Parts: sequence; structure tokens; C-alpha cells
Amino acid sequence: MQNLPIFMNLKDRPVLVVGGGTVAARKAELLLLAGAKVTVIAPRVRNEMQRMIEAGRVTWREQSFGPGVVRGFRIVIAATDNDAVNRLVFEECERHAIPVNVADQPELCSFILPSIVERGSITIAVSTGGRSPILARLLKARLETLIPAGFGVLADLLGRYRNAVKARFAELDERKHFWERMLDGPLVNLATSGRIVEAEQILERAIQDSAPATHGEVWLIGAGPGDPDLLTLKALRLLQQADVVVYDRLVPEAIINLARREAERIDVGKSMRRHTLPQDEINQLLVDLAKQGKRVARLKGGDPFIFGRGGEEMQAVIAAGLPCLAVPGITAAAGCAASAGIPLTHRDCAQSVRFVTGHTQKDDMGLDWRALVSEGQTLVFYMGLANVARICASLRAHGMRADMPAAVIERGTLPDQRVFSGTLATLPSIVRAEQPRSPSLIVVGEVVGLRERLGFITQPTHTASALFELCAA
Ligand code: SAH
Repeated sequence: MQNLPIFMNLKDRPVLVVGGGTVAARKAELLLLAGAKVTVIAPRVRNEMQRMIEAGRVTWREQSFGPGVVRGFRIVIAATDNDAVNRLVFEECERHAIPVNVADQPELCSFILPSIVERGSITIAVSTGGRSPILARLLKARLETLIPAGFGVLADLLGRYRNAVKARFAELDERKHFWERMLDGPLVNLATSGRIVEAEQILERAIQDSAPATHGEVWLIGAGPGDPDLLTLKALRLLQQADVVVYDRLVPEAIINLARREAERIDVGKSMRRHTLPQDEINQLLVDLAKQGKRVARLKGGDPFIFGRGGEEMQAVIAAGLPCLAVPGITAAAGCAASAGIPLTHRDCAQSVRFVTGHTQKDDMGLDWRALVSEGQTLVFYMGLANVARICASLRAHGMRADMPAAVIERGTLPDQRVFSGTLATLPSIVRAEQPRSPSLIVVGEVVGLRERLGFITQPTHTASALFELCAA
């Protein structure tokens, strides 16, 4: 081991920063985060440091560094642009056996400052032994994506129950098994999602009941519009924990394949005219699987709560007394608009945006057309492809101008995305000629015209995952 990792308690302890420049100020900030009492020694200071001094956050000794200065400090960090001073700081500290770090000079360090990943009371330090700070930063970035933001909250919660668990289970082994069981269950995701009361209930019940029922849980996960790179970190994490994945037709295989290899996969694929499994059977399936103790990832296209019947599934799961989490996804409107170069709102011409269902059998489609044609808004029709002619005709009949820009985005965000733009007058014939497939989204509004004005060029989207596949091939 190049360096021994230790975590030092510097709360209210005196530390010294030598130098008054930008780097010195950054080091001082870090030390302040650890609660240290920071003294800065420098004949002159720059803006950042000046502000810290004026705010009373650090104490300034307006002088040059000299022998004897380091005595009494727990650690010393030097960041001056003078090599001789930096070396002197190092030698002085070594003589007094005080840990010292000279910024960017590993040979003048008796300790190094690692890259840090922080989650509340949890700190993860990464070091390459001074060989490559950039590599350490890269590793840090990887860890940041792996560890849920709420892990600090989870640590605090577990900390609060430590004594109660100790009192309940006398044996170390018993306690270990208890915590392992808890950390393998719904507690983790509830706590990291901020649902502390429910997490506490689970802990309290488990402490009272020595053999608690190992209930599964259901996660309603938005899979986004298709491009796997548009998944949220949380969606990916849960997908990789799931015992079973229940998915819709809209979810591409590349996303389903992100689940664990051993996870069971159940297709409840729905298309407009082909309901493989009726909704109440899907609800029941989710409940049954979770009751068997399984962690169920219910993967839905886009966002689960936007035309996704996520609400009904959630109600069914909660009514069965099982934990249910919803993970938002990028809804088709947001995903398709971004990849087609259509800003959904724009200061000059669209102050609001409406998501509308275009799927209905009724003559007037059950929509409030008068409200839909009002000025300054963008309309996004989901499930409207089959009704595109009726949609365009109804908008015109209610007063929207015939040359209002309108577009169909087919398989938005996917590598074979196509965008057809025209106007309310021309879109139906364009659709007849080009025959876009499902899923397709219809966007109506001035913002569609911006696409050309912005000079946006539609290209096949080469997502990072597609590139990986290309490279692997
Ligand atoms: N919950 C989903 C919507 C489900 S309704 C969401 O939030 O996106 C299904 C409709 O979504 C489709 O008929 C289509 O209109 C739209 N849609 C979903 N993915 C799409 C995509 N990649 N490209 C275009 N439209 C899409």
C-alpha cells in the first residue's frame, strides 16, 4: 500500500494554509468543510481568500512563512508559487513531525488529499498514490453514479437504530444477520428516496418481530423514450437489483438487457389493439410477484405517470400493503423534442406546453379543442398517429391557422428516428405518404418552425451504447 488511508477528525483543531492564492483558498475551503480552524499565512492574498478573511471564516497572518511558524498546527497545507517557500514548509513540518501537503508536489507531501465522494456522513476517498489525480477524479465520477444520493440519509437512519438493535439482539452474529436482511430489503430504497417514516416502520417492525415476513417490493420505473442513455441513474440501479422485470412493448430490448442476467423477464407488452395482458391482470401479477418476496421492476416507456397507467398499478400495490416506489423517466415529449431540435417552450412563441392523448374512439376525441387552439402554447399528442388527420382538421376547425407548423416524430431518440415536419394543412398527407410507424408523437406549434430556423439537422442518433456495440463488433 502506497499510503495508509485514515480519516482525521479536524473539528475545531488548528490547521495552517501557507499561501493566499486561488489554490490556497480552495484548500482552506476543504479544511473548513471538515470543521477545522484555519489560519492562513501569506504576505498578500487574492480575492477568494480576501473574501474568506473578511467573512471571518479564516484567520490571516499577514507575513511571510518562516521557521517555527508551524508549531501547534495539526496539519499544514502549502500552496504558494515559490518553490523555496514550499520546500521550507515541508522541511519545517518534517522537523516537527506535522503532517504536510504541498499542492501538486507529491515529493513534498507526507500526506495526500484524496478525491472525495460524499454522502452525508459517508465519505469515500480515492487515491492513486499521487500518480494520477485525473484518474482518481475519473474513478470518483464512476462512484458518484453508483452510489445513490440518499445514502447519507440511510447511514443516519441505521445509526439511529444501532442501540435499539444492540439491545434486541445480544449476539454479534444475530445483529449482523439482522442488518444484512434489512439492507437487502425495501428499507434501502425507501430511505434513499426520502421515505423515512416508512423505512422506520420497517425497522421497528423487524426489531419487534424476530422473523419478519420478507416481503418483496415493486418499483414503477420510467424507462425513458427509448435511448438507453436516457435512463436515470436510479432506474439503472434498481434494474440491476430486480429479481423480475415486467415490461411493456415500448421498452427496447437494450434497456431490458440492463437487468441482471438471472432476473426473470415478463413481457406484458401492450400495443393499441393488442392487449396481451389486461390492466387488472398486470396489477395482480405485480402484487403476486412481490408477495412471493420478489423485487419487481415494472419497466414502462417514458414516464410511468404520463399516459402510462402507473397510477393504477401503484394503487393496486399499495392496497395490497406492499412497498411501491416510482422512478420518473424522461417522457416521450421531452425526449423526442430534444432529439428533433424542437424546444417545447420558447420565450417568443410558447409560454406553455400541453401533453394530450390522441387515442380515443369518440368523434370529437373527447378533447376541449377550444382550449387547445389558444395562442402561445405547444401541443404534444401522444398515441395520436392513427388520428393525425382528425387532430389537424379539428384544430383548424376551431380556428388554428392552416400553416401552423406541425411535426410527427417517429421512434424518437432511437437510432432510426425520423422527423416529418409540415403544417396542419400538409401533415396528414405527409403521414399518408411516409407511413411512420408507432411509436410516434405529434407536435403542433410555432416551436416546430424553430427547428429549421435553428438549422437543426436530424442525424441518426449514435448513442453511447450504440457506439459501444459498434466498437465491440
Ligand atoms: N408513458 C409514456 C407514454 C406512453 S403512451 C411516456 O411518458 O412517454 C405511448 C405513446 O407515447 C406512443 O403512442 C407515442 O405517442 C409516445 N411515444 C413513446 N415513446 C416514443 C418515441 N420513442 N417516439 C415517439 N413517440 C413515443
